Amino acid sequence: MAILNVLNYPDSRLHKIASIVEVVDSEIKAIIKDMTETMYAAPGIGLAATQVDFHKRIIIVDISEKQNDLIVLINPEILRTDGFQESEEGCLSVPGIYEKVKRASLIKVKALNIKGETFELEVDGKISICIQHEMDHLMGKVFVEYLSPLKKNRIKSKMIKRNKKSVAI
Ligand code: ZN
Repeated sequence: MAILNVLNYPDSRLHKIASIVEVVDSEIKAIIKDMTETMYAAPGIGLAATQVDFHKRIIIVDISEKQNDLIVLINPEILRTDGFQESEEGCLSVPGIYEKVKRASLIKVKALNIKGETFELEVDGKISICIQHEMDHLMGKVFVEYLSPLKKNRIKSKMIKRNKKSVAI
């Protein structure tokens, strides 16, 4: 297992579109293990493969406090949504930034688990937000792109400054 490097916004690789996982093989299982370790170490409640520069449709989420309720979604697909909710979101790729985003309230998702078996999940609240946020990453979308151009550009320049600083150290 290894802790992977998480790409920081505005890295252009965060805008790559992930491709379908054809087979859940040992390579896929290994990256999921590394992603899990990376997410727990951060700590974060969700991570998309895109964020660790692996462009396949894989996301993991765990909103539990004890980090013992991991959900792996491979090739996730939203089957149904209902209602709206707005809440403050953050992202491991945009550290320190929290902004309100409007999303669907309830979602029904279909995906493969780590064994390659199909399952369906119907969730609302925090976990629903988290899955929608991570699924956006697979489409190359970072949550700040929901904000006004002015806000987005402010965050972008802040991040660029900060990224430069961390390189200097
Ligand atoms: Zn994110």
